[in-house]
Amino acid sequence: MSPNQELFPMTFVVFDMEWNQPIPYIPAPIDPKILPGEIIEIGAVKVTMRSENDYTLSRPFSITVRPEYYKIMNRQVSRVINKSTSDLKSGLPFLEAYQLFMEFCGENYVLCAWGDSDISILKANLKIHGQSSEINERFLDIQPLFGRVGENTAQQRSVAYAVDFYRIPQTDDFHSADKDAWYEARILKETLIDYFAIMAKTPDRDSSFPDLMTYISNPNLTTQYRWRSAAFPTEKEALKATISEKLVCPICATELQPEIEWFSSGHTHLSLWKCLQHNLLSGKIRAKKTPKQEFYGAGQLRFVNGNAARYVREKWQEKLDGVKERTEIANKNEEKCEEM
Ligand SMILES: [Zn+2]
Repeated sequence: MSPNQELFPMTFVVFDMEWNQPIPYIPAPIDPKILPGEIIEIGAVKVTMRSENDYTLSRPFSITVRPEYYKIMNRQVSRVINKSTSDLKSGLPFLEAYQLFMEFCGENYVLCAWGDSDISILKANLKIHGQSSEINERFLDIQPLFGRVGENTAQQRSVAYAVDFYRIPQTDDFHSADKDAWYEARILKETLIDYFAIMAKTPDRDSSFPDLMTYISNPNLTTQYRWRSAAFPTEKEALKATISEKLVCPICATELQPEIEWFSSGHTHLSLWKCLQHNLLSGKIRAKKTPKQEFYGAGQLRFVNGNAARYVREKWQEKLDGVKERTEIANKNEEKCEEM
């Protein structure tokens, strides 16, 4: 029996959307901060994984949505997705289209997208139509998973890059929701095949190659925990006191396991934590001044998706590289001194 048996079968719904944006010189009918983009197309492909090597891809789901707010095509958007204002007059109202998308998704699946912008746009669109912005509680961002598995990098890559990387035949142009979802589903399949191959080859790999499950987060967890320290004469004391706060999961209150301990990055301190049940959280601390010119630390702990967690990991890596560089320079200087 395979050690990954409990993972199978697993269904992934890879979705991709296109959205129109307000036009800068026309007063927007709604605050663009509330609605940064209005969905005009939803595409999706279902990937059913029955074992490490057995994947079935569904036929693409595709639906055109008629916008209610941004009815004039933004030229920048138009250039990318090749649609005009007259195209925006057809399609279903958002809620009807979303209902059909939900029916396509079915039950018990992992929602997937490339990057996390589709998720935030979807939430904004649900809210504007008076719905709860809660979506499927398991979300996988394919982009960082591809980076780690395919190239062992944290660099952000485009869908087109990953298509080339896996030599997936390019039969259609990018930037229509259903075609992009189809490409992303193919990339997901290749990435999962690679992932299980790496797992099988290196049973005692180090922790830098994380578990598939750590890429799946709950996009509905918005609970935060904020705290602040007492006031101190120096910034250093304030930070020390803020860092010493014992952190527990804001949902289940269990003790958190440190993934990356507190480190300084510019004017903030960052850290990464894990709750066994609710996955990754990032910590952030800033030093602030009281009116009396004393210092206190303000801390924030919140749930993060793959991208946000990657941000902390990259900052930590930059810091390590910086330390290494400085040590190397110091060593070289020492050598020079000895030579003299
Ligand atoms: Zn928890």
